[in-house]
Amino acid sequence: MPNKLPTIVIVGRPNVGKSTLFNRITGQRRAIVGDEPGITRDRLHGATSYEGRRFELIDTGGIVVNDNEYIPSQILKQAKVALETAHHVVFLVDGRSEITSSDRELAAMLRKLGKPITLAVNKADTGAKESLVHDFYSLGIKDIFPISAEHGLGIDEFVNHITEGIPEEPPELPERGIKVAIIGRPNAGKSTLLNALTGEERAIVSPIAGTTRDSIDETVERDGTKFIFIDTAGIRRKGKTKLMAEKLSVVMARRNIRMADVVVVVMDASEGVLGLDATIAGYAHEGGRSVILCVNKWDLISTGKKKEFEENVRYHLKFLDYAPVVFLSAKVGTGVHKLFGLIKECYESATKRVTTGELNRFVETLDFDERKILYMTQASVRPPSFVLFTDKAGPLYFSNERYLTNQLRKRFGFVGTPIELKIRGRARKKDRPALK
Ligand code: GDP
Repeated sequence: MPNKLPTIVIVGRPNVGKSTLFNRITGQRRAIVGDEPGITRDRLHGATSYEGRRFELIDTGGIVVNDNEYIPSQILKQAKVALETAHHVVFLVDGRSEITSSDRELAAMLRKLGKPITLAVNKADTGAKESLVHDFYSLGIKDIFPISAEHGLGIDEFVNHITEGIPEEPPELPERGIKVAIIGRPNAGKSTLLNALTGEERAIVSPIAGTTRDSIDETVERDGTKFIFIDTAGIRRKGKTKLMAEKLSVVMARRNIRMADVVVVVMDASEGVLGLDATIAGYAHEGGRSVILCVNKWDLISTGKKKEFEENVRYHLKFLDYAPVVFLSAKVGTGVHKLFGLIKECYESATKRVTTGELNRFVETLDFDERKILYMTQASVRPPSFVLFTDKAGPLYFSNERYLTNQLRKRFGFVGTPIELKIRGRARKKDRPALK
């Protein structure tokens, strides 16, 4: 393997549930699982991630040389390389059966490796026998987690524990930089904000000439990230009449949203939220881009009114409930610096990918009884779009869809980006179109 990921190795006697656990964590259905001991024959590995910690999971199921005989030293021999390079070793036992001398022998050998090791007591759903608890402790492994690989119980804490210390990978930033559109009605303060954002870093501002004088993008580098403000000539251009200026602001919004990764909607705090603000913000929402709602000219408003103003914004722009609201003064410069970090966060949220394994562990934590969610997977990014396979066809109740989206945000931190949910119901026979 060219790019080595940290590995987590599962070891245990045949039939304790190694393959089921492997499938549970990776969200893959690759291992052949059966009731017969030793039915998994291949050495299995799969890359997956938990909370951005990417790792490779190795199921040593196939490493058991002799199906019927459980010889710890043989397991160890076969799995030697995998174990020696492992980030963490998981010793999996069956909570319903007695610990054998072979288990003890294997535990002792594994401890000698000097690797972080966790004992996972599987099949805890069927009630791991109290009387056996003492036995598990006697294996001399400090970290013990009762789990049910089959039913997903206790898996979250367990995976969190075994992946501890694996660095979280931030989503990749594009080489080119993050494209930002600043939109809003005339006099909201777009040009002033642009000057504040690019002016702060004037030394490294590099205007990139477009094909025409009309489209000039300006790049600003901040903490190693490039921000490209698009159509800066357009932002600075003023309409001659009020009506022309308003039309121009709408045209600019529609055009620039399409080209942007993140859209900053500028509003004038001294005027409140107006109809044109809602129109322009509406385009940003329809564009499916990440959106930041920026309340400018905050220097003109007495402090302590933030909550009230934010409620007003939320009331008028209900459809943008996922967009963060920032209060700033482009002219004075207060609060402007916060935008860079927020733009980056919104961009990363929109391009974030959650693995199927993570999603299916997430599904298990939901309090959701409208229908059974069989499976969930992320189909695309920008915006993040998820496909839910459920046991019924048709859309979800609105409130349940909201619940799901909110939980996704809470769990995976999607800031400022819309989230799409697509439902694929398991079609019942009578729902299927008749063959012609
Ligand atoms: P644009 O049409 O959206 O590009 O708006 P401008 O940037 O040209 O700003 C319109 C007017 O509002 C100008 O007179 C600015 O000086 C003023 N302005 C912009 N930002 C602020 C601010 O944060 N506070 C105050 N008090 N005035 C501002």
